[in-house]
Amino acid sequence: MFTAVSVKIPGIVRIKPGALARLGIYCRRESFRQVLVVVSEGLPENILQTLREGLAREGIAVREVVADGCELEKAGALFIANPSGFAAVAGVGGGKALDIAKYVAFLSQKPYLAAPTSLSNDGFCSPQSSLTVKGRRFSLPSAVPHAVVVDTEVCLAAPKSLWLSGVGDLASKLTAVRDWKWAFHNAGTPVNDLAALMSDASVYQFIARPERDAAGMRLLATALMLNGVAMTVCGSSRPASGAEHLVSHALDATSANPRLHGWQVGMATYALAAVMPRAEEERKMLENLFAVTGFFDAVRAAPFSLAEWDQAVDLAPTIKDDFPSIISLPEIREGVKRQFRENPVLRGCFV
Ligand SMILES: [Zn+2]
Repeated sequence: MFTAVSVKIPGIVRIKPGALARLGIYCRRESFRQVLVVVSEGLPENILQTLREGLAREGIAVREVVADGCELEKAGALFIANPSGFAAVAGVGGGKALDIAKYVAFLSQKPYLAAPTSLSNDGFCSPQSSLTVKGRRFSLPSAVPHAVVVDTEVCLAAPKSLWLSGVGDLASKLTAVRDWKWAFHNAGTPVNDLAALMSDASVYQFIARPERDAAGMRLLATALMLNGVAMTVCGSSRPASGAEHLVSHALDATSANPRLHGWQVGMATYALAAVMPRAEEERKMLENLFAVTGFFDAVRAAPFSLAEWDQAVDLAPTIKDDFPSIISLPEIREGVKRQFRENPVLRGCFV
């Protein structure tokens, strides 16, 4: 018997040059006459101007607030200060602004519009907000975007390090899906085939053309967005996050100098693909992807700490409760640590 399942997905998706200037048009069409806009701290003036002018042109009343942190308390305070005076919440900028806006939208049950100005991870369309409580980071259930607005020109102007982080986070879906299947076979964790397929397929679309140009930005944004949708489809972060994310979370908790999310998960993805059984094809693909995009070279220019990564790998199995993962196997952890030292591809990436 077939069961029809209904999930909330973004109804408006605009991934193109000049999309940010049109945010007002999208709001007007949806009858969002008053919008709470959460922007990142330090967003370049030209981006702010484009945003403000576009909204003003369409007569949208805006309350603009700056996200100067991503504490749960901040999102709560914003929600309380704006009980019902807006029709939608927009997040414009980087992770913190988007996470805060998403959570305020979730609390107030208002539509959420995601407008990332860089593509450093898949958070802009995920059904979770990454917020901190007393300095500790938590993934909380949150609003799925009503609209995803990605201005590819704006994203292209963002630093290359952010793009590389997005590439690393996207690549991590390969090991995330493998780890999910491992959890199915070894611990009975249910796998949603469609979500796994969506996650896997999105990576391949980008890998076929891994360029940092307008078309490449569109592919990367689309792929990262589909990962968010894959999480929504199955109600779990598993299609987008596996053993490689556990290592990154462990680094976030212990490193003296945590690095960009996608840099950490990208490296952990490669090392894991090199030791996971039957992942030879993925390893080769990642090797090529990270060579042609300059990912490995960027890491070499600012190498990771070997001692911190060893510690993070050992800590990884303890990071999440009820999350069976191949990283719980000692031979996998030892294999990953050996990769850091012995794999010639990673020469210079660790000190
Ligand atoms: Zn991620």
